[in-house]
Formats: sequence, C-alpha cells, structure tokens
Amino acid sequence: MIDLENLTIKKVHESLKSGEYTVRELVDTYLKNIEEKNKELNAYLYLFTDIDERVKIAQKMFDSNEATLMTGIPMGLKAIIAKKGQITNASSKILENYKATYSATVVEKLEKAGVIFLGSTNTDEFAMGGSTENSAFGVTKNPVDTERVAGGSSGGSICVVASDMALVALGTDTGGSIREPAAFCGVVGFKPTYGATSRYGAYSMGSSFDQISPTAKTVEDVEIVNSFMRGEDKYDMTSLPDEVWKQNVKKEKYKIAIPKILVDGSDEDVKKSFYNFVEKLKKAGHEVEDVEISILDLGLAIYYILIPAEVSSNTARYDGLRYGTKIDGDDLWSTYTKTRGQGFGAEVKRRIMLGTYVLSAGYADKYYEKALTLREQLKLELKKVFESYDFILTPTAPVIAPKIGSMGDDPMTEYLLDVFTVTANVAGIPAISVPAGLTENENMPVGAQFMAGWEKDDQLFDVVKKIK
Ligand code: GLN
Repeated sequence: MIDLENLTIKKVHESLKSGEYTVRELVDTYLKNIEEKNKELNAYLYLFTDIDERVKIAQKMFDSNEATLMTGIPMGLKAIIAKKGQITNASSKILENYKATYSATVVEKLEKAGVIFLGSTNTDEFAMGGSTENSAFGVTKNPVDTERVAGGSSGGSICVVASDMALVALGTDTGGSIREPAAFCGVVGFKPTYGATSRYGAYSMGSSFDQISPTAKTVEDVEIVNSFMRGEDKYDMTSLPDEVWKQNVKKEKYKIAIPKILVDGSDEDVKKSFYNFVEKLKKAGHEVEDVEISILDLGLAIYYILIPAEVSSNTARYDGLRYGTKIDGDDLWSTYTKTRGQGFGAEVKRRIMLGTYVLSAGYADKYYEKALTLREQLKLELKKVFESYDFILTPTAPVIAPKIGSMGDDPMTEYLLDVFTVTANVAGIPAISVPAGLTENENMPVGAQFMAGWEKDDQLFDVVKKIK
C-alpha cells in the first residue's frame, strides 16, 4: 500500500521512474481514498471519465523515457476550470449538467506534461464566497475538523489536497479563494501575479482580479505545478510575456513589513500563532518591521464594489439560451427571469444586483469610478512600500475556519474573512499562504500570508523555503 500522507511530486516521480509502483497503482490508491472519504467531506462533485485513458498515457511516457516531473501526478480541478467533455458546473444549478466544450490552457499544458486530473472539485457558486456554503451542491467539510468549513471558494481543491484525495490541485483566486481555504486546512495556496497564468478556460468572475492558482502540501510542490502552468497565452491578452520570470530575485535575508494596525483586528488565538511565526522569521535573520500603509484598510471596500460590477457583466451570458439549464416560461421575458431567478443562488443574485446598481447611471460616479480611483491609489501606495520592503506579511484570515452554518445569513460576516487577501487581487501582486501553526485553544490551522511586488512570484517561493 502506498502511504499517501507524506508524498511529494519528486518522491512520486522517483518511485514511478524506478518502478517501485505503477501509475495505475498510484491512481488506484487515491481512488480508494476518495471512495472512503469523499462522501463525508464532499470535496469532489464528479470524478472524470477519462482517468483510465490518462493513466495509460502517463505510464507510456515513463516507459518511453518521456516523463516530466508532473507525469502521473493525480490532481484535483476546481469546478470552474474547463476540461473538455467533462462536467464543469461552477457548483451552480444553472450549469448543472454542462460539459465543457474545450479545455482551459492550464489543463492542456498540464495534461501534455502527463498530469491525471481525477475530478471536479466543489466551490462556492461561480467562486463567490469564502466557505463553499454557497455551493448548490452542499458544503465541503474541513478535514481537520469536520464541524467546520474547508473555506472557499476553492474549498474542494484545498480539501482534496489536505485529505490525500489528490497530491496537488488547481483552484482560482479572485479575492483569496486559494489562500483562505489553504490557511483554514493547513496547506499551501499560491496566487500568482495577475497575468502570470492564462485565465483562458476559467469561468470569469472578476476578469481584472482572477488567477488560476495551485495548492499543495509543500511550497516545493506548489512551485513545480506553477512552473508548468504559467506563461504567455495567445488566448489571454492579459497574460505576461515569459521574459518577466527570468530575473534573479533570490536574497539571503529579506525585509518584511507588517501592517500592525490591520493585523490587530484578528482573533487573539490567530494573532498568537501569527506572531510566533514572525519570531521564527526574525530568528532566521530576516528583518521584520511594523508599518502603516495608508488606505490598506479600504481594500475590502474597493473589492466589494468592483467585484459585483464585474460579476454582473460576466454572468450575463448565463441565460439558458446560450449556456445553462433553461426553465421555460410563457414568453421570452419570463423564460429569462425564471432561468436566472431559479438557476442562480442567493449570493450570485446579490452580487448581480449590487453590481448593476454600482454601474448604473448616477451611481457609477459615486461608487464604481471612485473605487477604480482608489484601486490605482492603493497600487501606488504598495509600490512605495515595495521600494523599502520585500514582502508584506499578515495572517491569511483574521479567524480560524468557522463552524458550518455559523456565519448565518449576513453576507458581511463572510466578506470580512477576506480582509487580508483581497489586497493582492486589487493590486494584481502575487501572494502565498503557508501554515503558521495551530491555535492553542482549538488546535486549528492558521495561515501566514506573504505578499510581494509585481512579478516577484519566485521570491515568495524562496522566502517560504527558507523557513525552518
Ligand atoms: N471570498 C471572496 C469573494 O467572495 C473571494 C472569492 C474568490 O477569490 N473567488 O469574493
């Protein structure tokens, strides 16, 4: 029996190469684990129908010496990233049985490298939320404590990694969706610089915020997956040219800024774990200073104006005519309102309404335009900070994973989970969440989030690898 708990990409690669086990044996071990755990955790919505075929391709690559580091690696795929011929429903009723007609660029790239995608993972509907409680297909439970949420929106992808139902996985991150659940479940989640990775084939939520993002148990694995994903893509005009990654950014010691005033708003037990982690960094010789970053506290307000605006236009395409499940009414208007009214869940409808409002004549100046201006100001502020510091460090979330159902019906409670993560998406900078330890009282994981300057993605991997 293969011990899944301590596997890494490199270990698997060596074992597959030496013939210690076959791709089939590896995948079967994961499938068995899925059979045992998924019912309870609800992380996979579907398993893909082409696994056998992919196993054969991967084994052939090993047998003919064409294997890459990713060959045979079992991965989870968030239900918002298209894989051709497979149900990719964004955890929404409106796309319940929708099969993708093409694969996302990152899926194609990884499959070419020999990856085996096992299944489609649960998310808050269309990635809107931070708990997976907004999924039309039930919440994903936290494998550390099943009374709590796994977090979201990429809760399914994080959960499959944390519970060994896949070695690594892909999610998306628009305002923290890979980092927040990673923090809640004790794994690593990385959001690249905006444009590092092609968004082609990921359902758009906020097009100027979204990035497909990898998760794994170790930073080394996240870095490997990322290296196979990123790069310019002719299908995404916001993707960055490959040259930007060639700069050498590694340093012996780093300078780290902590926006103390904002961090102080976190729960006591989160702060304790976080500041223990900070001590470790100091001991390792990094310089850590408290800083005041003006308008950082406005990140959440900027985000929750601009995101609904982009959501309202991006979801217009789901009308039951072009995509999605159609619910017939007596005429076109009632077909349209029934389809969207019953197809979308409450949170998606809330954002469509808010977004339409902030974009409408008379209010666009007051809200949308103002938020756009503040977005630029925040970027300028951050630029200044990164002239003196390599990273900004915060807890990933101000609380530990909430108990299922505990956030009630007030959406603000859930929005506040994003207070530290949205900044990176508003500004387009890279950020990584790494386990910072367990809380004293509840024994729940806490995440620490490093944010770096634009295109300094590799520096994030470097600092994290240096933490002992
Ligand atoms: N929780 C945030 C939101 O609901 C982030 C979502 C995401 O990154 N997809 O908007």
